Amino acid sequence: MTGKLYVVATPIGNLGDISIRAVDILKSVDLVLAEDTRHSKKLFAHYEIGTSLRAFHEHNEKDKTGSIINEINEGKSIAMISDAGTPLISDPGYHLVTKAKKANIEVVPIPGPSALITALSSSGLASNSFTFFGFLPSKPVARLKFLQTKINLDETIIFYESPKRILSTLENMLEVFGESREVCLAKELTKSFETILTDRLPNLIEYLDADISHQKGEFVILVASADKIDLIESEHHLDKILSILCSEMGTSKAAKLAAKITGIDKKHCYKRALAL
Ligand code: SAM
Repeated sequence: MTGKLYVVATPIGNLGDISIRAVDILKSVDLVLAEDTRHSKKLFAHYEIGTSLRAFHEHNEKDKTGSIINEINEGKSIAMISDAGTPLISDPGYHLVTKAKKANIEVVPIPGPSALITALSSSGLASNSFTFFGFLPSKPVARLKFLQTKINLDETIIFYESPKRILSTLENMLEVFGESREVCLAKELTKSFETILTDRLPNLIEYLDADISHQKGEFVILVASADKIDLIESEHHLDKILSILCSEMGTSKAAKLAAKITGIDKKHCYKRALAL
């Protein structure tokens, strides 16, 4: 007999946001793996779930995966939850799910909230095409560099950010994306102080600056896609720079320099230079 691995989404704030099926599964499995067992005990108490909890987090995931797979193969059904939202989404679980699939174990998703989708659904930004990048680099230089490679993306881009860095990250975004880019700041979703503001960056920075309490809590940042007109203009600008540089040096060096000047991806600059 083989057990199953259930990947169960739990609330991102409001305890009511969990499916009936998720509660049933958490009650019926042999064991629940949880990022922080103390944290999950509150959820378990609320829904009268008596199943034993075992710690499973980023520091022990790799060590514990083998024995968990053995337990499932011996017939146990095991559920995995994280502190909030969907496991694996900026949370542990990837290693276990990959190994379980390789061992032909059935992995059953039990869907529920995730902060990025919750934020996107209420942001007012384009939802037909988007990319989620998780947490931004914590060091300002690396963060700026990372953001510069995203300037021209023609889709909504989504990030998680900690309260410690929310102000400096929005300041970096203003430097990179400019004053006119629309951004949604989704704070404390599903909780008492839920705030979802879609505005231009200077106004969002003003909001964060106005009161230190505005910088507290959990944040999702969604950046609107680059304006089509902006995109065309920036391609024209890039072509101009490239034609000057290419007349002075080799294509590869010109592309590298143009990427540094414009913040546009090096490979894209190279392709563009070849097409001149
Ligand atoms: N697995 C979770 C999910 O599915 O969304 C994400 C876990 S990640 C470790 C935690 C980050 O998600 C927070 O720092 C914040 O950026 C975002 N987040 C989680 N809950 C949130 C909420 N209620 N409101 C806004 N952002 C939230």
